[in-house]
Amino acid sequence: MTRRAKIVATLGPALDDREKLRAAVEAGIDVVRLNFSHGDHDTHARRLETVRELGQRLGRNVGCLADLQGPKIRLGMLPDPGIEIVTGGEVYLHPGVEELDAYESEGLPALPVVYEALADDVTPGSLMLIDDGSLRLVASRVEDGVVRARVVAGGLAKSRKGLNLPGVKVSAPCLTEKDIEDLEFANQLGADWVALSFVRTPDDIMDVRERIKALNGESPVIAKLERPEAIENLTDIIDVTDAVMVARGDLGVEIGPERVPAIQKEIIAEANAESRPVITATEMLDSMINSPRPTRAEASDVANAIFDGTDAVMLSGETAAGSYPVEAVRTMARIVEVAERSPHLIHPSPPPHSELSVSRVVAQSAVQVARDVQATAIVAFSMTGWSVQLVSKMRPEMPLVGLTPSARAHGRTALMWGTEAALVPMKDRAQELLQAAEKVLLDGNWAATGDTVVMVTGPPGSLGGTSRIWVHRVGDEIIH
Ligand code: PGA
Ligand code: MN
Repeated sequence: MTRRAKIVATLGPALDDREKLRAAVEAGIDVVRLNFSHGDHDTHARRLETVRELGQRLGRNVGCLADLQGPKIRLGMLPDPGIEIVTGGEVYLHPGVEELDAYESEGLPALPVVYEALADDVTPGSLMLIDDGSLRLVASRVEDGVVRARVVAGGLAKSRKGLNLPGVKVSAPCLTEKDIEDLEFANQLGADWVALSFVRTPDDIMDVRERIKALNGESPVIAKLERPEAIENLTDIIDVTDAVMVARGDLGVEIGPERVPAIQKEIIAEANAESRPVITATEMLDSMINSPRPTRAEASDVANAIFDGTDAVMLSGETAAGSYPVEAVRTMARIVEVAERSPHLIHPSPPPHSELSVSRVVAQSAVQVARDVQATAIVAFSMTGWSVQLVSKMRPEMPLVGLTPSARAHGRTALMWGTEAALVPMKDRAQELLQAAEKVLLDGNWAATGDTVVMVTGPPGSLGGTSRIWVHRVGDEIIH
């Protein structure tokens, strides 16, 4: 069975064993996520090097996504095993510090929070959620740079746990000092995609884009949608970003888990309408962190993301820190494959041509032509990967092969739905391009002599967009 939707897997200690990583790549990892919320630069570099070497050896195009932490607010260090905070009681929060001399003041527990502006951003009544919302606080007083809060739901507060401020306008810039350093490093590593956490506005995307440009980089940007503001600004963010992630973990904490399913559908539909790749992420096979088998609910969740029309599904703790990382990838691949063969998989009709750019009209028509002539494969030639992306969003039934002379574009296509990719030398003439495509199709067993194939390109040798559709019978003389 071939799978069309892609699998993103987060790297971490669970896949540091080379043999396990090899097995996981073979089981279906298409893109690895380097999560800059954890681990140092050397560790990320070492992991990526192993992935690239394995990809070469196995003949798999494995892409790399560098995920910047963003303005994630966390507790500082607490004495082991944590500090018990009691429902109905009160606590003090000390902003901008990693540690405290004393974890008690005026008889109340005191917690350090590694976010300078907490006392500026929070006002009495603000909701504060610790550890994915398992501990809930409501600010009661802000005085002398310290926040006092009522404990609505208590429990054990542990070191470095996340703190979410759902209704608060967080003043921290979307790119922190750490993100700027990590971005520079990701650029050195040649990351195929850069993801930005806690995006709020289109300007957040423009900012990271400008910084990438200043570094002479070209990584496209993924907006992680996990703040209420991002959902309010969804259309404008999708307009300026290259791709999106339904970051259900933090999103669920910020807006409540009950709102996530409908918002997931909305985000996927909008991303598809605008031809942006969309990744559905977090807790997809969560129980597989500790168990070799998924729950039925998880199998349904992965399949439903496919039915919603996602381009990619993502594994987080399952592959980064779980006990069954290879099984998780294998399980996810199988669920996706079976879902894709189900009659429930319905692709929405494309928008009318009058609303589309020339490139999209051409991409859309190429897929229609390929269907009508019963083409064995469709080939998209692209300098940046964008034409391949446009064709991918039309969800062609036949194999889609992305041809590019750019190693960077080649890496990017790993995230694109249903796309196989091949590197070809730069061609200035249409005839040479068609010859190169024919060779790739035959070598990769995508098509045989006598098969009809469809190829879509821009003007050869230029960055001129998607403008041509060719129908060709493999083996026929190429005259142009
Ligand atoms: P994270 O992002 O794993 O980096 O927090 C995804 C999410 O919040 O769902
Ligand atoms: Mn997140």
